[in-house]
Amino acid sequence: MTGPQVDLEISRAWLVDPTAGREGPGEIVVRGGILEAVTWLSDAEADGIGPDGIVIAPGFIDFHVHLREPGNEDAETVATGLAAAAHGGFTTVCAMPNTDPALDEPSVLARIRAAAAASGSPVELLAHGAVTTGRAGEQLSAIGELADAGVVGFSDDGSPVRSAPILRSALAYAGAMGGLPIVDHAEEPSLTAGAEANEGYVATVLGLRGWPAAGEDSAVGRDLAVLADVVRDVPGARLHLTHLSTARALELVRQAKAHGLPVTCDVTPHHLAFTDEWLAGARRWAWEASDDPWSDGALVGPPYATSLRVNPPLRARGDAAACLEALLDGTADAVVTDHAPHTEVDKAVEFGLAANGISGLETALGVLLAAVDAGRLPLLRAIGALTVGPMSLLAGRSRRAAAGLAEGSKANLVVFDRSASWTVTPESLASRGKNSPLLGMDLTGRVLLTVADGRLAYEAPDA
Ligand SMILES: [Zn+2]
Repeated sequence: MTGPQVDLEISRAWLVDPTAGREGPGEIVVRGGILEAVTWLSDAEADGIGPDGIVIAPGFIDFHVHLREPGNEDAETVATGLAAAAHGGFTTVCAMPNTDPALDEPSVLARIRAAAAASGSPVELLAHGAVTTGRAGEQLSAIGELADAGVVGFSDDGSPVRSAPILRSALAYAGAMGGLPIVDHAEEPSLTAGAEANEGYVATVLGLRGWPAAGEDSAVGRDLAVLADVVRDVPGARLHLTHLSTARALELVRQAKAHGLPVTCDVTPHHLAFTDEWLAGARRWAWEASDDPWSDGALVGPPYATSLRVNPPLRARGDAAACLEALLDGTADAVVTDHAPHTEVDKAVEFGLAANGISGLETALGVLLAAVDAGRLPLLRAIGALTVGPMSLLAGRSRRAAAGLAEGSKANLVVFDRSASWTVTPESLASRGKNSPLLGMDLTGRVLLTVADGRLAYEAPDA
């Protein structure tokens, strides 16, 4: 059930090619699914073509999504997750292993690959294997077999790798298996037990139990110390820290990179663009936030919206600014959505009892474009963080040769209209997870077309 290879000609668009470090007016031709011609226009031919209209970019890559299959298909299936990816402009996604059963041995990987094939979606599904059996934190999973089966990394995400000796062994084994990264969710559980919201003014006023930055910073410090030790014996060891959210954690990674440690990291759209004041009912971007949402008329939404409960929690504006800064200076290698669909049942409870996570695949582009529109992030960097950045983390395990607009390659493209906005509604989301704090809000950059592996993955109804 696979669609035909795409034939497509788009003239007078704005091309963005992060691999070439280039953007500008241009045209593309796709024949039989192959990106046959990429033509950059100049002088008179380029008149009137700007970055505010139709944009063509390489298909996005998400290094961190939760697709919930097997085990929680009410929240998402591989098929609906891949449809959400295509709607968001993603042509490759990497599923996290916190399914039920956990992806801790190759047969679970075979199951989700079969589900992807049965869906007929051309979006590429890759996966992380669990670090420990059942993600229980006690015993290393079948790391060698999982590496042979093609996983892109190892993670107990949802939970940190609690035991330092296990982290040490995992870094060593995975490092010896072709340099696959250990992808850690950095959290020190003894500091976050029972925590509900970022420790600070908003949590205090709302009466939510504080989640200190130290809960993340200390875990990052431990992980880097273990990595520094392991890498002396296993030069292939690699650590990737996912969804970092504090200024201090990002500074630790910045310093570690400067010292040559093989560490990479990512940030999410929500941690760089939302702040904890959204819990009070504010709905303005992080770069517009103040220290006191109660003082300046910013409160427009209901307080305690459980769609905002996420791990790590939404932080204060200084931390959000640090996420953006890390993206700008390359400390953060990629943007990941941490797409975490949940059923309504799991979110329609008190704030502190709600499941953690935001359904984010379909809104990532719009959120990043808000930062672009505000002059906080160059378009080329935003697209780079969704393409060439995550590609560099995949250790050659994608079927795609590159993340740019290279002539002669299978077409992996997204076409979006920056002049068109769309309203985020439950019906507009292909994901089963309607748990988005952006419901009711307008985003710019409507995706018109997503082509994955030379085939049509998404087409806007009226495109
Ligand atoms: Zn996580």
